[in-house]
Amino acid sequence: MKTYIPSQFIIERDPVRCIQCQVCVNQCTFDSHYYDEEEDSLKSNEEKCVGCHRCVVFCPTRAINIRRYPLDYRPNYNWRPEVIEDIIKQAEGGGMILTGMGNDGAAGLLEMKQAGAFNFAQDEASCVVFGMPKEAIKAGGVDKILPLNDIPGAMLSYLKMMTPR
Ligand code: SF4
Ligand code: SF4
Repeated sequence: MKTYIPSQFIIERDPVRCIQCQVCVNQCTFDSHYYDEEEDSLKSNEEKCVGCHRCVVFCPTRAINIRRYPLDYRPNYNWRPEVIEDIIKQAEGGGMILTGMGNDGAAGLLEMKQAGAFNFAQDEASCVVFGMPKEAIKAGGVDKILPLNDIPGAMLSYLKMMTPR
């Protein structure tokens, strides 16, 4: 069966050392090794390998080597350190929590408030779902509860008040 999970292991077989005894074929519980009759050679399917090294141990001529693929971590453009710093700086001023389901944001808003931020929550009447603002209010992370349309003005007033002249 074709698997789309990338192989974790690289199987190397030294053709000079290999005497085609097929011990590796018989020892691998995961059928990674097989004998290709058409090409008259031993082959391996890396996708099946779990890296147990059993074939390495049993190979009489030390012809096999198993290595782990190097991990391919790529930096995420959206979460560069300077972007995270900007978000933290913005969060120091204050935050708001709008309509939504669950308790997402409740813990984060409380943490912001404890660090000195002033936080707004949308009121129940203007929410489609009051779940998230309700949880944030319950957790103690909200300073002011307002209808959606009043939040932008209130935030601007607050920022004006807090900005040094
Ligand atoms: S056990 Fe070693 S020598 Fe034998 S077939 Fe496999 S790789 Fe070749
Ligand atoms: S390391 Fe284990 S799973 Fe991988 S090919 Fe060898 S015997 Fe099979």
